[in-house]
Amino acid sequence: MKTPAIVTEFRDGLASGKLLIQHCNDCGKPNMWPRYACPHCQSENLGWVQSAGAGTLHSFCVLRQGAPEGHEEDLPYAIGVVKLDEGVQLAVRLLPSGPEDWSGYACDDRVEFVPVSAEQIEKRPCARFKRTGG
Ligand SMILES: [Zn+2]
Repeated sequence: MKTPAIVTEFRDGLASGKLLIQHCNDCGKPNMWPRYACPHCQSENLGWVQSAGAGTLHSFCVLRQGAPEGHEEDLPYAIGVVKLDEGVQLAVRLLPSGPEDWSGYACDDRVEFVPVSAEQIEKRPCARFKRTGG
């Protein structure tokens, strides 16, 4: 599947170990997910900045069966919604704290971005996070 141009920079950032968030060059506010126009001021003058990669786990679930088509081979895996300290949120993959073990996670946990290889991003282009200190 061809990557939509609007997410190319985000994915390229992940492949080089950086978590990028869209940033409005006119009003200075962050946007996530990427948009063609700023939801705060409607400017199309948008760029990207590197996130510090720290945030709070808003919600998550562990999938052990019933994965969407094309994701079956990843089972089991966990998806979380992380609210970054920059104020925007995104869906991420949560890394297990042990083999197939996400039992240590709880909502409102502090979590941090984990860079992974370009090959892993090519296979599954999403940000990986883990519990801070875990
Ligand atoms: Zn703006």
